Amino acid sequence: MASKSYKTTCSYCGVGCGIIARKNAKGVITVEGDQDHPVNKGLLCSKGMNLHHVVQDKSDRILYPEMRWSKGHERQRVSWDQAFDRAAAVFNTIIKKHGPDSVGFYVSGQCLTEEYYLVNKLTKGFIGTNNIDTNSRLCMSSAVVGYKQALGEDSVPIAYEDIELADCFMIAGANPAWCHPILYRRIEAHKEQNPDVKIIVVDPRRTQSCDIADLHLQIIPGTDVVLYNAIAKRLIDRKKIDKNFIANHTDNYESLKEVLSKTSLTESAKICGVTVADIKKAALFISNAKGFLTLWAMGLNQSSIGVNKNNALLNLSLLTGHIGKPGSGPFSLTGQPNAMGGREVGGMANLLATHRDLGNEEHRREVANFWGGKEISPKPGLTATEMFDALESGQLKAVWIICTNPLVSLPNVNKVEKALKNAKFVIVQDISHRSETLEYADLVLPAAGWAEKDGTMTNSERRITYLNKVVAPPGEALPDAEIIWKFAQRMGYQGFNFTSAEEVYKEYCQMTKGTNIDITGLNYDRLKTEGSFQWPVPENGHSGTARLFEDKKFYTDTGNAKFIIPKFTKPTSELVTEKHPLILTTGRVRDQWHTRTKTGKVNRLLTHIPHPFLEMNQVDAFLRKIKDGDIAVIKSKRGKVQVKVKVSDTIGKGVVFLPMHWGKVLGNDYGRANNLTTSIVDPISKEPDFKFSAVEVTKF
Ligand code: SF4
Repeated sequence: MASKSYKTTCSYCGVGCGIIARKNAKGVITVEGDQDHPVNKGLLCSKGMNLHHVVQDKSDRILYPEMRWSKGHERQRVSWDQAFDRAAAVFNTIIKKHGPDSVGFYVSGQCLTEEYYLVNKLTKGFIGTNNIDTNSRLCMSSAVVGYKQALGEDSVPIAYEDIELADCFMIAGANPAWCHPILYRRIEAHKEQNPDVKIIVVDPRRTQSCDIADLHLQIIPGTDVVLYNAIAKRLIDRKKIDKNFIANHTDNYESLKEVLSKTSLTESAKICGVTVADIKKAALFISNAKGFLTLWAMGLNQSSIGVNKNNALLNLSLLTGHIGKPGSGPFSLTGQPNAMGGREVGGMANLLATHRDLGNEEHRREVANFWGGKEISPKPGLTATEMFDALESGQLKAVWIICTNPLVSLPNVNKVEKALKNAKFVIVQDISHRSETLEYADLVLPAAGWAEKDGTMTNSERRITYLNKVVAPPGEALPDAEIIWKFAQRMGYQGFNFTSAEEVYKEYCQMTKGTNIDITGLNYDRLKTEGSFQWPVPENGHSGTARLFEDKKFYTDTGNAKFIIPKFTKPTSELVTEKHPLILTTGRVRDQWHTRTKTGKVNRLLTHIPHPFLEMNQVDAFLRKIKDGDIAVIKSKRGKVQVKVKVSDTIGKGVVFLPMHWGKVLGNDYGRANNLTTSIVDPISKEPDFKFSAVEVTKF
């Protein structure tokens, strides 16, 4: 039998590269970039190229359900029937005794849209609580709020094709060279062919993305708002703004102008740690541009003032009218493959499916009527960090964790450990025994992984693609969607009689009818035969929507985009002190993904950076008598980490960097960056302040 090929999508980052997976007669899988896919045109980065190893190596896979009857017992293998019976019995008992808000679901931006949709329907529409949140809270909830406030809805206006049409890029708080490699390749190629294209990078570290930058603004962590406001003031003062656009399509400009009139470029430059000349240069690059794209990621979002940072950056696109036209727009880079799909189906504690608003009574009624379950509670549910606080305090009794590893990824993780210890009942639904969170699971449910199930995902540019099932899941593992609908059936809820992901998708598509993200023109047949589509796709035959707001009609009440005045210009982060004088910022490395449950088992991906390290400025190292390669102890108020030091001039004085991927593999203190991070979150988006914790470093 010849090998068979399947079109699918990479399951790592939000770039969403198309993949051809081939399976030979022996069932062995290989992968290659899909030449026909509009995102990557055949290219894949190191992670995508090695995806087949993750599927092929089953040594770490969870193969059957496991359960324990009480905390002191070992978990034992059970049947799916026993597992569902136990989950339903425990949830029913807890809900009856303590109410629906005593249970919660913590899910993942790696879930497929169908899975995300179902768990939201189950939680909000049938259990009767909004306690469903996702690890996407940790990466882009500040961007969601920013878009909603300025544009009226959480809507990424751009298409990737705008990259080749832009002549000025501002890459802010992002390192796409390592974290969104294929997108970066497109920017790099565009710059190579058009040397006049200007690239501004804003980052406290001189990352690999700076290699193509015309200007690197190496700001002091947390000062982004001051920088963007200073650039905005310069644009206004030099009359390099789009007056027609502002007059006809925006609200609140005069208030912004008034606030910015008090801004001093000299003072701003001092606060940010850059020069006035460089602020002026950035403004000049932007004012000369015909197409201006801003791209940002965790450096803006993961902050105690993440929403403010988003607002301030969005204002630059609105001031210059660079939105809804070719080569222009504010573009939030999503970290996870389906963070966007999750946003569409209301995958967070304060959202409703199809961009309907939890705070709107009519919207809640529409959703409840569509699902035919309970009334939707108007009370926002517990967000990611709130959920674990509530487990620790005992307010939340049971948590169901799907496809995520909070024991490594949440901030102040020693507190998370206490919370999980204190929980009455923990369900972990995952693919791999490598997940540290399993340590606290009372019930473990084996899930199917990438290529072992079908479904859809949406990438950073709103592009929806279908992922094929290539092989059967190992052992008794089931697709996440099937686990959820079977549990809902066991709970006796109507409306979960699905037999395939396709049926779930059909229902979700119908729910979008008449909304701004209408995809009633989409179905699995179209996705399989015609390829990927950018939403909205409101009718059959519609080819999708590359760019939003070309008609300059925004989703706000007035139809205008809104300038939001950032409330905080100063960070509200933890204060550095004499005892903890350095600012710790965390992030990713090129070949690892999240908590390494997948990439950590692929030898080829370990050759790049095999161990965690601390990046430290040479002056800070010298003052502490630390040399390159020495082991150092990094301490914050919350815990410690012990790793090798990489002395460097790529990071500013007073700032240190740790990668976020490593967990407890070699002991609690070895490289688990979140031993150190704070519990502070943005007051609106509730996104953690991963980029700013006070620490001290000493030689071991
Ligand atoms: Fe996968 Fe992202 Fe790499 Fe593309 S850029 S292959 S989506 S990890």
